Amino acid sequence: MKAVRFHEHGGPEVLKYEDAPDPKIQANEVLVRVKACALNHLDIWLRVGVRRWQLSMPHIVGADIAGEVAEVGSLVTRVKPGDRILLSPGISCGQCEACFKGLDSACRSYTLFGVMVDGGYAEYVKSPEMNVFPIPGDLSFDEAAAVPLVFITAWHMLFTRAGLRPGEEVLVIGAGSGVGMAAIQICKLVGARVIATVGADWKLEKARELGADEVINHNRQSIAEEVKRFTNKRGVDVVFEHVGAAVWEDCFESLATYGRLVTCGTTSGPEVKLNMQLLYGRQRSILGSFMGGKFELTEALKFIGQRRLKAVIDSAFPLKDARAAQEKMESRNFFGKILLHP
Ligand SMILES: [Zn+2]
Repeated sequence: MKAVRFHEHGGPEVLKYEDAPDPKIQANEVLVRVKACALNHLDIWLRVGVRRWQLSMPHIVGADIAGEVAEVGSLVTRVKPGDRILLSPGISCGQCEACFKGLDSACRSYTLFGVMVDGGYAEYVKSPEMNVFPIPGDLSFDEAAAVPLVFITAWHMLFTRAGLRPGEEVLVIGAGSGVGMAAIQICKLVGARVIATVGADWKLEKARELGADEVINHNRQSIAEEVKRFTNKRGVDVVFEHVGAAVWEDCFESLATYGRLVTCGTTSGPEVKLNMQLLYGRQRSILGSFMGGKFELTEALKFIGQRRLKAVIDSAFPLKDARAAQEKMESRNFFGKILLHP
């Protein structure tokens, strides 16, 4: 098959469109003909290299995959060749305490497509049957591939971790990112009020179209000042964050008393300063979040199938142009998901 692989860590130039061996399935696995694979920042971290993850080389990334079932192993009962499916990006054992609780990402053998197993920057990928979900409603392959990772992540952050309740006020950082656009819509689903930030004026209107009640351009306005203004100095109940150091002070200052800050990433750096008096005195919580579970994907897919939640698609590239697609992601000049077509 054709695949985009890298043989060493480095810049976008290490991505090579080349021949790779066809995946061979086990009895409990499904071979998927990839129709669309969505990019995530994770792909770039993996290409550059993450110290605690020793990747096999050459390596195929890509966690968000939709396609057709090409072949099934002898023990597979739930899907058959030709079915339109998407893959839940997180792979866990399914038989440990964490998995029984639905906390897949706490499983000791947890990994993702494109991390310890091959991902979707390829014509074919193999998957455990457990990870295969029918595409809901009349979603296209592109729409389906754009959903899983960001909606699982945002769902887990807002409900499982931050305990979002109807009518609360939420600050969503980076509305143009995949998790940001998912978060805005999930908040509106439960009647929360959303203040969203974007990094460019052309994204202001797009954030409003997704449902943001108020929008801040964080490159020319102070997030903390604007949140004070929008909330009559009260602050927000939940801060939804994935940027890290660059926005930390503004995010923490924007929390109301009893506010919860939930974060799933540090694209601008992981080291921050914390004033503990303002943490305990105002009874705030800081919550870490990492991915989520298959049950959270099934919850989100109900609304996706009804088109009450939708992934926003920025653009699509042929698989061979994966380098250009990743360069676009690194440029920040996009809104929504970027896709690859094998
Ligand atoms: Zn497990």
